[in-house]
Amino acid sequence: MCGIFGIYNHDEAANIAYLGLHALQHRGQESAGIVTANESGLHRQVTMGLVSDGFDEAHLGCLPGRAAIGHVRYSTAGGSEIRNAQPFVFGYAHGSIAVAHNGNLVNAAEVRARLESSGSIFQTASDTEVIIHLLAQSHEPSTLERIVSSLRQVTGAYSLLFLTESRMIAIRDPHGFRPLVMGQLKDGFVFSSETCSFDLIQADFVRELQPGEMVVADGKAVRTYKPFETLRDPEPERFCVFEHVYFARPDSLLNGRSVYRSRKKMGRQLAREHPAEGDVVIAVPDSGVSAAIGYAEESGTRYEIGLIRSHYVGRTFIEPQEAIRHFGVRLKLSPVRATVNGKRVIVVDDSLVRGTTSRKIVAMLRSAGAKEVHLRISAPPTTHSCFYGIDTPTREELIASSHSVEEISAYVGCDSLAYLSHEGMMAAVGASADGVGYCSACFTGDYPVPLGGTDGQLIPLRKSKA
Ligand code: AMP
Repeated sequence: MCGIFGIYNHDEAANIAYLGLHALQHRGQESAGIVTANESGLHRQVTMGLVSDGFDEAHLGCLPGRAAIGHVRYSTAGGSEIRNAQPFVFGYAHGSIAVAHNGNLVNAAEVRARLESSGSIFQTASDTEVIIHLLAQSHEPSTLERIVSSLRQVTGAYSLLFLTESRMIAIRDPHGFRPLVMGQLKDGFVFSSETCSFDLIQADFVRELQPGEMVVADGKAVRTYKPFETLRDPEPERFCVFEHVYFARPDSLLNGRSVYRSRKKMGRQLAREHPAEGDVVIAVPDSGVSAAIGYAEESGTRYEIGLIRSHYVGRTFIEPQEAIRHFGVRLKLSPVRATVNGKRVIVVDDSLVRGTTSRKIVAMLRSAGAKEVHLRISAPPTTHSCFYGIDTPTREELIASSHSVEEISAYVGCDSLAYLSHEGMMAAVGASADGVGYCSACFTGDYPVPLGGTDGQLIPLRKSKA
């Protein structure tokens, strides 16, 4: 998963992009990059790691211009290496262009093989690079037409920002899998994966880009296009429900809805569907907090802080080796004995993926004196991998793909385990029971964009942790 940010027409474009990326840091911590544009061309700085660690005054000083795009990366296609850090900048027959991508193309391997067989030389392992090669080969007369004709050849999830010397172009794929919002800052336009970055830079939120919409900022105005509608029927919107469940920051608005409020509703619904006899409700911080508050409110059980998260380690998913990941849970979370000792504890987390984290947490709570541990998950069982940009393991590694709730409960070692229903999750995000308008393939296996093979033959997006 990744975060993208753009600012057009501002005296301090690089500094604003830095701040915008800072607010999107939760969407990716592996690498960060900013590209700015002025009359002398495009200027690029990228770094591994966090925005605040990698960028200093010297980097920002090398980024002149009144327009900037930025990217934070959490690799789902291509390894964690500096050559895969975005935004990418490419020179081609029509000048220079930079691109920042959130999402995952499902036919990238196929398109890449075709391009390589006709002579293209790829510099990165990223799926995003195929878009650039398609652009370079396009015979369309204008940049916008070249971009559109390239995107018509790729399928899957993309929210994209392009930057040329004179323009910024923002696009969402026809299904609108990944978020992309637009705002205004003085006379400038801003684009971001999430509204939380607008709060930091004090920009006004204008609206979300619609699925399949292309917005072009040049001069003092923006123009909007629906370039994919002429080609095919408007695709039904399939916004990623996991953005609401886990990924986005709770202070963001997604699909016009407060993420915090949606998560609280998931927690409330979970309490209605799966009550537990307990003395205290605690959350797995940070992502489980909103749902735990909802669960506590609905059940009338006290909410307390039962686990402390260290903010000085990255998300455990990111660490490269199995051994470190196991250790990482203890490094990241510690129990509050004063809350859990002698208590029947209800623990709320947003998702259970491999079960590794929950197993550690249950053991940790018991060793801190918890009498009973009842685990409640504010989403349905994760049974399928994501191919549209969320970093999920292979199906074999997803415990719920091959184990019943009872078996998972036994593995995790809790006294009881229950998940929110699919209908309950959809109701919390304001969707109908069958989830029209959303992609919930990780919970159902119903993949809206064909993956080009049977599920068993697919290569997962994430790099292997084995
Ligand atoms: P696991 O140990 O594999 O069951 O991981 C479950 C934990 O990972 C939960 O606390 C989730 O909040 C968190 N989580 C779920 N999905 C992701 C993801 N794509 N990236 C990072 N963390 C995740």
